Amino acid sequence: MSVTVERAASVEEAAAAIARGAALLAGGTILMRRVNAGDPRLERLVRLEDPALRRIGSGSEGVSLGALVTMAEVAAAPETAFLAPVARAVGGPALRTMATVGGNLFARRTYGDLAVALLALGARIILARDGAREIGEFLRGRERAGLVLALEVPRPREARAFGFLKVARVRPAGTAVMTLAAHLPREGGRIRGARVTFGGMGPGPLRSPGAERALEGQALDAGTIGRAAAACVEGLEPLDDALASAWYRREVAPVHLRRLLEGML
Ligand SMILES: Cc1cc2nc3c(=O)[nH]c(=O)nc-3n(C[C@H](O)[C@H](O)[C@H](O)COP(=O)(O)OP(=O)(O)OC[C@H]3O[C@@H](n4cnc5c(N)ncnc54)[C@H](O)[C@@H]3O)c2cc1C
Repeated sequence: MSVTVERAASVEEAAAAIARGAALLAGGTILMRRVNAGDPRLERLVRLEDPALRRIGSGSEGVSLGALVTMAEVAAAPETAFLAPVARAVGGPALRTMATVGGNLFARRTYGDLAVALLALGARIILARDGAREIGEFLRGRERAGLVLALEVPRPREARAFGFLKVARVRPAGTAVMTLAAHLPREGGRIRGARVTFGGMGPGPLRSPGAERALEGQALDAGTIGRAAAACVEGLEPLDDALASAWYRREVAPVHLRRLLEGML
């Protein structure tokens, strides 16, 4: 099978190539494995070297990450300090110099650690074709989304409002058995707008309606944490794969959520 790699001169040219069936070659950490395995759907790749897609911007409410920003750049930039532990959890150092934030949104289970964190933070995904999408909506239709230009990520108002935990059998660079993130903004000591997310507990990154319900409007204390942990797998269907059975994931998810939330007290 022969593979053609085009170099797009503009965002419009890249978006048009993707609309015609080409795949964007970002860091290539997932894509090149598929090419090397002879995936017949990958006959046309497109590269885009627009500096705007490599930029990290910072405003009063949050940060804007160009889709081609790498995990190593997120881990190092002062503007993205709140995301550094997440970026450092993706693969090893060499992989992080290639792996992009845009590519992570398309990673299949059980990859997508950054996407789990961004879902908790309520990021917005900026598309070349039709403006901005809330990340949950984007993830549900990502196959048809086309070219992603940037990710807008709200900054947590205080450090303890955001927590992230990757559970892996091999440390530090192993694939996640599950990934957890929580964003718990507090007003007057009460949680307002709780978002709790999991990777590995369904086909992609998902929110946990049970945990969010138990946390919303409450003070974060031992009782609330216990109720959130007890309810966190409601409505979720954990993966059953070579890393862990669905039964195991269901059993340990409450334990890991409890640990994550205790770290946010
Ligand atoms: C050894 C190894 C370890 C890994 N460990 C982890 C890990 O711990 N955690 C984790 O989350 N992931 C991990 N990954 C997966 C992967 O490296 C990351 O998810 C990475 O962020 C993917 O980005 P990329 O730029 O390399 O994507 P690519 O491989 O370039 O692209 C992946 C897919 O996304 C599409 N795409 C990429 N960018 C865009 C865009 N801007 N717009 C539209 N489509 C786009 C591509 O066309 C392709 O279909 C690992 C991979 C390997 C090989």
